[in-house]
Amino acid sequence: MKILLTGGAGFIGSNFILNFIDKNEILNLDKLTYAGNIENLNSLKEHPNYVFNKCDITDSVLLNDIIDKYQPDSIINFAAESHVDRSIDGPKEFINTNILGTYELLNASFKYYQKLDFQKKDFFKFLHISTDEVYGSLGKDGKFTESTSYKPSSPYSASKAASDHLVKAWYHTYGLPTLITNCSNNYGPYQFPEKLIPLVIVKCLSNEGIPIYGDGQNVRDWIYVDDHCKGIYEVLQNGKIGETYNIGGNQEISNLELVYQICDILDKIRPSKTMDSYRNLITFVKDRPGHDFRYAIDSTKIQNQLKFFPKETIHSGLRKTINWYLENEDWIENIKQNKYNQERLGINIK
Ligand code: NAD
Repeated sequence: MKILLTGGAGFIGSNFILNFIDKNEILNLDKLTYAGNIENLNSLKEHPNYVFNKCDITDSVLLNDIIDKYQPDSIINFAAESHVDRSIDGPKEFINTNILGTYELLNASFKYYQKLDFQKKDFFKFLHISTDEVYGSLGKDGKFTESTSYKPSSPYSASKAASDHLVKAWYHTYGLPTLITNCSNNYGPYQFPEKLIPLVIVKCLSNEGIPIYGDGQNVRDWIYVDDHCKGIYEVLQNGKIGETYNIGGNQEISNLELVYQICDILDKIRPSKTMDSYRNLITFVKDRPGHDFRYAIDSTKIQNQLKFFPKETIHSGLRKTINWYLENEDWIENIKQNKYNQERLGINIK
């Protein structure tokens, strides 16, 4: 397959490319924001299936040109502003990329789709990558299904919800063959250390306080990034056009319990030189404004219809992730020096 993919220098996009580049030709189109790290794909510089193009998805002229020249079989939209805390400090970029950018990409894809011959039209798909956060917050019970109403809380989730609605509109109104996946929290290699799991690992390694928002009882469902990428690939190949698929890890855990698990694994494989346990670094800080209490995904649809099941448990996935960060301390150092030094975000509301 010839895939044009946006946001491939980010966390999930780069894992997707590394997983599937041997079976597919992939054009990675990325603006390279603070979250985009082209070094994630250094190993592919000479790969015959891989091409990179720097492009902002809000730039319709460049988008039309690139899509026409590349002639993709499928387009996957990973590009987004993705961090809830940053969306609280500065929502405008989220509106711009997540809503306007998705609109421009849909428009350019539809222009391209209309020009395809009958056979290529039959094969073409537009897959939009989204989040379970569009469904809002759960109480102690229940899970999100594909028919749960949207009730986003943060500027991030509201902008993703808007982008999902645009994708559905382009299917219903214009007949663009679209698919959407809504996934739970991802973790794994190459995740930018503003997100909880890499942040905790980095704080432990640098002997700094681990900030827990509120009382740490908020619950998330976690999926290892390779499992998410495999689910996306399955949906791309066998998903039913016009449909949405929830992808979950079936691994619900409170933030505090998750941090305990990371500390305990590190205590075994990289014990601290100065304290008995990394758990001593935990500090409770003021909660995130509008912090959703719980997310949980009902993955019955993708399990029954596409026979997709994630492989990793939270424990096995955390071990792999922690090992990757321990083996790639240069990658972390580079981000600390040049992009982000683990300061608290989401409290400088403008
Ligand atoms: P990320 O922030 O790590 O990467 C986003 C990428 O998009 C970066 O490479 C960035 O440079 C690029 N980008 C941003 N604005 C752009 C623009 N205007 N034009 C072109 N490129 C642009 O994000 P991620 O964690 O890899 O998430 C990828 C997608 O998956 C997002 O759509 C996100 O909403 C969704 N998602 C993420 C998670 C998660 O836990 N990380 C869970 C569910 C869904």
